[in-house]
Amino acid sequence: MYHGAVERVKQREAPRLTVRMPGMIEKLYLAKPRGFCAGVVMAIDAVKEAAEEAKQAGEGDIAVYHDIVHNRTVVDRLEDEHSVTFVERLDDLEQARRTAARQGRNLGSTVVFSAHGVSPVVRQRAAELGLTTIDATCPLVTKVHNEAKRYAQQGYHILLVGDSTQHQEVIGTRGEAPEQTTVVSVVGNRKHDPELADPLTVEVPDPDKVVVLTQTTLSVDDTMKTVELLRQRFPNLVTPPSDDLCFATKNRQDAVRQMAPNVDAFLVVTSTASSNGMRLLELAQDLTGNAHRIECADDIDLDWFAGATSVGVTSAASTPDDLVQQVVAYFQQLNPALQVVEEGEWENIVFRKPKKVPPPEALPVT
Ligand code: SF4
Repeated sequence: MYHGAVERVKQREAPRLTVRMPGMIEKLYLAKPRGFCAGVVMAIDAVKEAAEEAKQAGEGDIAVYHDIVHNRTVVDRLEDEHSVTFVERLDDLEQARRTAARQGRNLGSTVVFSAHGVSPVVRQRAAELGLTTIDATCPLVTKVHNEAKRYAQQGYHILLVGDSTQHQEVIGTRGEAPEQTTVVSVVGNRKHDPELADPLTVEVPDPDKVVVLTQTTLSVDDTMKTVELLRQRFPNLVTPPSDDLCFATKNRQDAVRQMAPNVDAFLVVTSTASSNGMRLLELAQDLTGNAHRIECADDIDLDWFAGATSVGVTSAASTPDDLVQQVVAYFQQLNPALQVVEEGEWENIVFRKPKKVPPPEALPVT
């Protein structure tokens, strides 16, 4: 595999060929911050604690509506180590209970809403099904929901900038005011979602009563360009007092920007479903022209590093750091003298643990 890469480099750069063998990566730059953000930590801890509490109380296993965060390893570990069941529709729970029973398990009636948030129709359905709920929505997503509700009540049309109409966060936020919301693509969107409106052509019922909100995990640069474009089209466009992009998204993109001049190639440890992770990949690719997504160290292909001496590594806000440490170990094995450089600051933010809420009929009568 590596031989092929050498041949390609030879063809491109024959006059001053200095091909380095794989394993000659001398410096590994680790982005800081990277990996878990406060919202992800809160959501995962909420699931683990709820699963253990329910077990101890004899209430059976718990379910989570949608992947708690967009990372395959996190979901697999919660299934394997805490017997958590993940469903994409609350109405799938009945079938999941029968399946669990056949396996000798008891799936109870507690469901956790994922960090991406849910639309009011999901909350309503949970109440109708008599489910106990734990809302692990990130507070920064809740902030956008509250803005959507407030502006919709004031009669505004909402232009919700998102990277896909199918992303859980977008579905949830749009669900607060579906009749008054149009999901608009970011400028330079690399997904092909035909449901997304184009910011250049989107129309609204009243151009003087329009507000722009955004998904929390978009590219900072592309979002600024999109909002500016919308402002040119709708001069009275309202924007919330603080923008909707979250600190974790911004900080991880900043870290990539700072590292980029030092590295020949980038590895981004992320699942494809992670919006913030895929935005890191796009940014790293734009800055270095040599960025690759990996789920874990097993995906690394040494062909990517022909001629490279330094590699930058970052990870999505939902990627466990042990997956990054496996990448470090991989390169250390190839070069025991590897220098690992880690500059920057960790975030120091903690979100409160969400409460367990019994179904409405079980609430005490006041
Ligand atoms: S990435 Fe941002 S919005 Fe998503 S959970 Fe983390 S802090 Fe919250």
